[in-house]
Amino acid sequence: MWDSPLEFLKGVGPQRAALLAGELGMRTVGDLLQHYPFRYVDRSQFYSISQAVDGPAEIQFRGRITKITEAGAGPKKRLVAQFEDATGTLELVWFQGVKWVRGSLPINEDVVVYGKVTAFQHKRNITHPEVEKWTEFQQRPVRGLFPVYSTTEKLAGRGLHARGLAKLIAGAAVHLDAPTVPEWLPPDWLRRFGWPAAHEAVRTMHFPADAAGLSLARQRLAFEELFLLQLGMQVQKTQRQKANRGRILDRVGPYFLHFYEKELPFELTEAQKRVVREIRHDLRTGFQMNRLLQGDVGSGKTMVAFLTMLLAKDNGLQACLMAPTEILAQQHFAGLLPYAEAMDLHLECLTGSTKTADRTRILAGLADGTIDFVVGTHALIEDRVVFAQLGLAIVDEQHRFGVAQRASLWKKSSIPPHMLVMTATPIPRTLAMSAYGDLDCSVIDELPPGRKPIETVHRTDGHRLKVWGFLKQQIALGRQVYLVYPLIEESETLDYKDLMDGYESIRRDFPSPDYAVSIVHGRMKPADKDYEMQRFVRGETQLMVATTVIEVGVNVPNASVMVIENAERFGLSQLHQLRGRVGRGADQSYCILMTGPKLSDDARTRVETMCRTNDGFEIADVDLGLRGPGDLLGTRQSGLLNFKVARISQDQNLVITAKWAAETLLQNDPTLALPEHQALKRVFTVYARGKFVWGKIG
Ligand code: ADP
Ligand code: MG
Repeated sequence: MWDSPLEFLKGVGPQRAALLAGELGMRTVGDLLQHYPFRYVDRSQFYSISQAVDGPAEIQFRGRITKITEAGAGPKKRLVAQFEDATGTLELVWFQGVKWVRGSLPINEDVVVYGKVTAFQHKRNITHPEVEKWTEFQQRPVRGLFPVYSTTEKLAGRGLHARGLAKLIAGAAVHLDAPTVPEWLPPDWLRRFGWPAAHEAVRTMHFPADAAGLSLARQRLAFEELFLLQLGMQVQKTQRQKANRGRILDRVGPYFLHFYEKELPFELTEAQKRVVREIRHDLRTGFQMNRLLQGDVGSGKTMVAFLTMLLAKDNGLQACLMAPTEILAQQHFAGLLPYAEAMDLHLECLTGSTKTADRTRILAGLADGTIDFVVGTHALIEDRVVFAQLGLAIVDEQHRFGVAQRASLWKKSSIPPHMLVMTATPIPRTLAMSAYGDLDCSVIDELPPGRKPIETVHRTDGHRLKVWGFLKQQIALGRQVYLVYPLIEESETLDYKDLMDGYESIRRDFPSPDYAVSIVHGRMKPADKDYEMQRFVRGETQLMVATTVIEVGVNVPNASVMVIENAERFGLSQLHQLRGRVGRGADQSYCILMTGPKLSDDARTRVETMCRTNDGFEIADVDLGLRGPGDLLGTRQSGLLNFKVARISQDQNLVITAKWAAETLLQNDPTLALPEHQALKRVFTVYARGKFVWGKIG
């Protein structure tokens, strides 16, 4: 029954079946039954028409339809029905499926009308309401919580609006029994958490008796999804470790020790020390390391990277560090060169703009092993880059690289190098557990001492004069200022105009010779960009007008003020990344978020969050709630996180439970061979097919 085609279900037929497949991807009865309500409404209350207020709430009335007319012509054609109760009248309006609706509306019968009331030119109406005969309404399986299903305009036009879908689902649900939806979770888990059996859980999602039962059913179904994902991640990790024995780097030798004791310019923070210990542990296990290192901007990831490179050297191996942009690669190179030289180590930089002669020399040195370390961009993964003995590959700002790009570093050595991927975009813990469950995660959750938290304020355009006054004051103290404009797509002409207008007005308000202004944006030639950037770095200009091209990597410690124009147009994590450009020196730093007077709810949340906290993890949590996991992860295949029920932002405890359950299960029964795990194994095998590289178990 579960797998039978929808076409044969009562009330469907070939046409609707085709539409359901096309619009919602449903093909089988099981698909339909897994189309869970996206919310529930309490339909126990009725309003009288005279009480009806317009607004977001969907409310219901009882009355009768007295007249139906069609108005307008062509695409503007609409159906208007007069709806009355003892206290007044409302108009019901349909723009879609006029013909179909007209045929189905009962006239002068006792009906229930349900929808959102809008006021339009002193009239109140409901667009696309649900209309149901009172006699039918009374037969609904439950009072109280009613399921509301998402649908599409096309489906609604064929009578498969929310209510129509509900009817279909109610029809299909009579088949929901244990043989159709067999139990597959171990019974002691169900007992422990109080979860209903598999078929019961599905039924309860559609027809909850009460909120408490619904909550348990939802928990079970969300757990199923999170658990299968965790199991897949664990299996993938184990299989990969089996397939890729890593080199054992167990020597903590002269390079690491000498540097640590004699050259290290500062004491590591406790968090840095902990991460170095975690990495040292990984390198000794004989498995290939796959570690994700998260740490907020400025938390000191580079030093951890360098110490790890020294460990590679102590074990006779080479190391590379790949960065997403030329600027960043150059900066790493410039930063690490003095350390490498102090240790008599050979460090080189390889990017797209490396001159041919240098490139030839560097390629030769990497191949014959005379170069110890190389920093670079994508240029590092080209085929002609060959290492004598690559033992460690580090990827900085990993979210800017695709999975394939990272993976191609693996092939640079017959034994895959140990991998350390670093990110300054913190990912909430439970999201990291889900999306990167096959990696090990380290977190630097502490900034080096002595940093003053950046002070962030929100100002509207009306305060511009005051803000400019503040900038002049700061510049008089010798500081420098960034002014950032949104330019999400470099081709957006309007944004470009905004930026240039902004630049012109700043040159007017900060005139030479007292002030000098730089500008950097994506339409400039790299050489010009670099020239302008260098002027600012050298302090020849006090203001830098820029787009988000400065988001990653630029390091100008004397720049202590950042103004972000149209801040409402930036995403939260992007605002945080931008803000990370200031606060790098000893001075108190400021971030000023400029917006228009009116903000959407989401934009207000973003701005308020920025003003409240500097903590990247707290910000990431809010961002997860606002945007969902897909947008946060960027390149990581987020298809794995397309859940029907689970929500990573809300189900954090379930994520942790699921991980624990998967680990415990595999510890007790690594190949899922026990008879009581056979149902589970079947479900997992179907789930993992095509999703995981090693979807097989046993
Ligand atoms: P990110 O994690 O953003 O890559 P960096 O590695 O660039 O951060 O470090 C930011 C700055 O902090 C650098 O100037 C670095 O030298 C300095 N730094 C790193 N660790 C420490 C520490 N333990 N104590 C003091 N300064 C540190
Ligand atoms: Mg960095």
